[in-house]
Amino acid sequence: MVAVVPGERPTSRVRGHRRAPPLRSRPVGCQSDSVYTDSAQDPLGWLEEASRARREAGVERCLIPRQPGPEAVLDLASNDYLGLARHPAVVSACAAAAQDYGAGATGSRLVTGTTALHEELEHALADHVGAASALVFSSGYLANLGAVTALSGPGTLVVSDAANHASLVDACRLSRARLVVVPHGCVEGFERALTQRDEQRALVVTDAVFSVSGRLAPLVELHVLVRRTGAVLLVDEAHSVGVVGPDGRGAVAAAGLVGEPDIVVTATLSKAFGSSGGVVFGSTSVRRHLVSTARSFIFDTGLAPPSAGAALAALRLTTQARVGALHRAAHGLADALGVPRTDSAVVPVHVGDATAAAAARDLCLARGVRVGCFRPPSVPQGQSCLRLTARADLTADDITLAAQVVRSAL
Ligand code: PMP
Repeated sequence: MVAVVPGERPTSRVRGHRRAPPLRSRPVGCQSDSVYTDSAQDPLGWLEEASRARREAGVERCLIPRQPGPEAVLDLASNDYLGLARHPAVVSACAAAAQDYGAGATGSRLVTGTTALHEELEHALADHVGAASALVFSSGYLANLGAVTALSGPGTLVVSDAANHASLVDACRLSRARLVVVPHGCVEGFERALTQRDEQRALVVTDAVFSVSGRLAPLVELHVLVRRTGAVLLVDEAHSVGVVGPDGRGAVAAAGLVGEPDIVVTATLSKAFGSSGGVVFGSTSVRRHLVSTARSFIFDTGLAPPSAGAALAALRLTTQARVGALHRAAHGLADALGVPRTDSAVVPVHVGDATAAAAARDLCLARGVRVGCFRPPSVPQGQSCLRLTARADLTADDITLAAQVVRSAL
């Protein structure tokens, strides 16, 4: 499904994270009556104008519903990296959890929304990545909001990579900490911010695998830096858990950093695990702190039990054999397209212009291959791209077809 970015406006870069320009407002009581006349007739009239501007810039989004049953097209746009979303064991675990606990969690985790299944899932997730504990949220987005805000706050410095996912960007903004955004992958930038700070506490936040480029963050260097400067490193493993490292244990495990007391990891259950939900891994004191203070945990209805059941079944199917098949598919896809390999499931194909990227995406779909398309504000102006994602269940014929179709659409 194509991502929809509501309320999207032309963006400008402010200290690295792209931001919507502030809405112009006038002090109440200073306007003449005529200022109100137009908006009084249709106070949301400006939406049409904003939509027209988006269409002209090639960044208007629309929803394309998938139909039930087997896919009519070759899907290279989803994040179902291990091909588990429709695995019979995952689907039946989802149904069994609905039978056992109902369709929804019925309340927040602190009230009625924690089931035995949630606890089993948390133990299994923590065991899988080698963390002391795990806390499940209802999405990866909310896991990031909860972890960053609860581990920072006023009086803290937060240092964030400019290419971080929107959920980390929003978490930084919500944190009320002093925020420094450093250029993508610039370890010196992180070092400067950390060593020149006045704050005692500091949190470095980074994606492990950057979702558009598929590149890995310099986790070992960042960890050396946080250790030296007394900071904490928060790593979002959304695109690396189930994908990177032995048995898909993640990029932190691949870097040999499992269990370090100054690393907190977040992840989603909606990509390699084919379900829904988010998780924060860390020490038992991190978990205890989040349970009592993370607002997106406390004030949100718990993860629906069917999603918890599906994620648990998917986790049990996350084997080195599947992870290896995923990497062979990703490398095969990159080679067939003549683009550099990455160490993740993401295969980006640079286009540049937003309108051209959307047109190429549409042409691919018309020719039987669904690919992703990243345009501003998800990427900077002029860096629109097609984004293909490999899956463990892709065949050699799928890869040949994909390469032919994508090349013909560019
Ligand atoms: N972090 C990253 C890097 C992501 O790509 C995403 C999802 N696109 C999320 C967090 C949010 O995860 P979820 O979809 O489970 O909310």
